[in-house]
Amino acid sequence: MTYGIKCIGLLTSGGDAPGMNAAIRSVTRSAIFNNIRVKAIYRGYKGLITGEIKEFQTQNVSNIIQQGGTILKTARCEEFKTIEGRKIAYQTMVKEEIDALVVIGGDGTFTGARIFAQEFNVPIIGLPGTIDNDLYGTDSTIGFDTALNTIIHAVDKIRDTATSHERLFFIEVMGRDAGFLALNSALASGAEAAIIPERETKVDQLEELIKNGFRKSKNSSIVIVAESEITGGANGLAARMHKEHPEYDVRVTILGHIQRGGSPSAYDRIIASRMGVAAIDALLDEQRSIMIGIVNNEIVHVPFTKAIKDDKPVNENLLGVLQILSI
Ligand code: ADP
Repeated sequence: MTYGIKCIGLLTSGGDAPGMNAAIRSVTRSAIFNNIRVKAIYRGYKGLITGEIKEFQTQNVSNIIQQGGTILKTARCEEFKTIEGRKIAYQTMVKEEIDALVVIGGDGTFTGARIFAQEFNVPIIGLPGTIDNDLYGTDSTIGFDTALNTIIHAVDKIRDTATSHERLFFIEVMGRDAGFLALNSALASGAEAAIIPERETKVDQLEELIKNGFRKSKNSSIVIVAESEITGGANGLAARMHKEHPEYDVRVTILGHIQRGGSPSAYDRIIASRMGVAAIDALLDEQRSIMIGIVNNEIVHVPFTKAIKDDKPVNENLLGVLQILSI
């Protein structure tokens, strides 16, 4: 495909995240501002295969900046993982005269985008849309800040019960094998500890917790646990605690899907808006196969290969702060 982009396809894929709509609005308006047509593709890569596509005008994205979820819907699409599926997707692009794609999603979405871009020489720009914040090359993903805020509001409520009943609560948060939500929400909610998969390979975090005189000056405690096979999740840790320390009155809360929804925070709306404009700028600048990120409050371009493959390290400094403040 040559440059001189006249029409883009826009889709959201993978898990939904608050702020995806703000990104859809931004990409759409910024494209139209630059005289580029926008074709909205429904249900992620599935819509590209089934041809569920509708041309958007600016009014199609009115009144959505404050809404959680994605108006374009999202779906997992196994067919796109096959060359046959991607061939059909490409044929749809040709038929619809779509010259380039902007995809909003997580690492799975970008993995698919990278393969598709290579096979069919299609310019694709990605926007990081996931509450997990597990993409390398960006300080924050769209949805992470909102999910954090949702978690701390829930934890604040649980703390009332924990204190009244003098209980130990293990609260499980999402994070698909990444401890960013757990660590940051533990800090922001004043939790005693965060159990995260990144550290489990180095130390037995539960043992460390007890050894450090956990609960010595408190009558209640809250431990945030990242959902993960590695940590064993909140249920796994609670069962272990019950066995090894029956003196504690242990309870478990799994926050689940409430973490995904809700109106996006100001921060997520702002980064989504900035990233959407940056995606169109990048296309006009003949960039391809990159994710738009934000580092030190500046927009950056991250090759898909790096965003997907490189492990994003947890900030050890945050762990240190949490430990100091939980005495
Ligand atoms: P996320 O983008 O949130 O990580 P998924 O991992 O579910 O979500 O990926 C979203 C979609 O991206 C998948 O349903 C599939 O259509 C596509 N995808 C993921 N991995 C691949 C792959 N290896 N090859 C082609 N497409 C893929």
